[in-house]
Amino acid sequence: MPEPDEIDKSVAKRESAELIERLRGLFEKSAFPVHVYLFTDPHKHSTFDRAAEAIFALFGKLTDKVVFQQYGLDSKQAQDWKVNRSPTILFEPDRYHIRFLGAPADEEGRTFVETMLLLGARQSGLSEQSKKLLGKIQEPREVRVFVTPSCPYCPQQAVNAAKAAIERPELISLEVVEMLANQDLAQRLSALSAPQTYANDRFIALGAQSEELFAASLVKLEEQTFVIPDVEAELLEVDLAIVGGGPAGLTAAVYGARSGLNVAVIEKGSLGGQVGLTPVVENYPGISRASGKVLVDLMVQHALQYAQIFQDEPVLDVKLGEKLEVITTRRRFVARAVLLATGATHRKLGIPGEERLSGRGVSYCALCDGQLFKGKEVLVVGGGNSAATDALYLYSVGAKVKIVHRRNALRAQDYLQQALDSSKIPFLLNCELREIQGKEGVERVVMENNQTYQQTVASAAGVFVSIGYDPNVDLAKKIGIALSDAGYVTHDHKHRTNLPAIYSAGDVEGGYNQIVTAAGRGAEAAISIFEDLTHPYWTKSKSEGS
Ligand code: NAP
Repeated sequence: MPEPDEIDKSVAKRESAELIERLRGLFEKSAFPVHVYLFTDPHKHSTFDRAAEAIFALFGKLTDKVVFQQYGLDSKQAQDWKVNRSPTILFEPDRYHIRFLGAPADEEGRTFVETMLLLGARQSGLSEQSKKLLGKIQEPREVRVFVTPSCPYCPQQAVNAAKAAIERPELISLEVVEMLANQDLAQRLSALSAPQTYANDRFIALGAQSEELFAASLVKLEEQTFVIPDVEAELLEVDLAIVGGGPAGLTAAVYGARSGLNVAVIEKGSLGGQVGLTPVVENYPGISRASGKVLVDLMVQHALQYAQIFQDEPVLDVKLGEKLEVITTRRRFVARAVLLATGATHRKLGIPGEERLSGRGVSYCALCDGQLFKGKEVLVVGGGNSAATDALYLYSVGAKVKIVHRRNALRAQDYLQQALDSSKIPFLLNCELREIQGKEGVERVVMENNQTYQQTVASAAGVFVSIGYDPNVDLAKKIGIALSDAGYVTHDHKHRTNLPAIYSAGDVEGGYNQIVTAAGRGAEAAISIFEDLTHPYWTKSKSEGS
């Protein structure tokens, strides 16, 4: 795969100047000085040490609200604070127990910045619900969040944990562990997927959670999948509530707000949906080549000019009535119309070993986890554009990658197939995985040729599952939206669902799952919502037609 491209570079240059100004402004508002200490090993002075030093130097120039200091691993300070790895960053260690092991580069820059800003405010910034949950903790919690710099989900989970450590400093301590710099710690727990979270050495979460789910998991010391809110929710009145912050939802926000609607986008996890996890996008008009993350950042910045975005807020329900009420873990949005742009989630293979070894070598995010497999044998399962893109990314980070596909030819676009050919990435065709085996992590797979039924066992350290997506329709089902036989939201040409004032857009509708088609459908839905709110079809009598 070629080097990071020109579009990324030029966008990055423009954005970094803007970003630096924005950060300066944010730090300016810090009420309290923050002390942040970096520990490096002067004898080794590793790449990670140098990266951490560069980040410190950059932020040192940016603000005087943070006191940045650097010490050696052999210093008295290192002894006092029991620091024995480099690089290690301590945040305000006289008050809190928050440390970052590694260099907070790339995506982890967000964890670094948000932690310092929260400390500057001396506030956790948690919701009332999360504070109430954490208030139940009576015994110490030693939290460890394993992250990688390329994982877009990771900062959400690391920041959840930092907020908890700020809220209950007497009981909650945090180590954010960057896995590339601390492979021994990751290996000890067979952790091969990011983010994953442990508390008191017990596994409590795979992937990023909402703040409230994280708090509940930390209380119970095991992964929780739902939280029933029991605090008074904030009320917000809007014209249009958009559920989902992928390309469809973000485009609808721009179109809706430019028509004059007051718009809120509500996203349960990371903005950008699947695009944020796509290593490279080459077919979005006007952008010949960019990482999915860069494209998402551009879309988010654009949408923010027009609409409010509420991130990390799962929608629990939509109450029907003359006005619609969208209920999240933190708020109630009273809206005149709701757009469901809930996207899709990766499919699973459903074979023995997959669930058990998930996060231990079985991965659904090449971008998040790929770098942990440098020099190792990995299989990518699937024959579509995702499988091809993931295989090319894994190849680019130095994994020994093979594609396993159940047909006799891939269905990925010709352009991607040519790139696979030039990289000499091998395929196993007519081949299906039957089982993934291994004790602590993936060690081997059982494969079957579906023409000859012959089974073989092949060694592999990783299995990347790239076999398409299923629509996220739990909320739609709950509120009584009609679905097609294939499980997608049914809608008319104006993106109206069977329920008045509720619309759909993007991958949740099925059809072509392209970024540009999702964006297009988001625009169409927003235009139709604006027209309907001006002349509501649901209040017309039958004789008027619809
Ligand atoms: P996809 O196009 O639906 O392809 C899924 C692949 O997985 C197919 O080859 C399918 O096999 C195989 N598969 C499905 N279930 C399987 C199972 N249980 N066991 C083994 N194999 C299985 O999905 P996708 O590749 O994730 O792409 C989704 C959408 O995103 C597409 O519209 C794609 O164009 C788009 N996308 C675009 C880009 C890009 O342009 N850069 C990158 C990624 C994704 P069959 O062939 O037998 O059905």
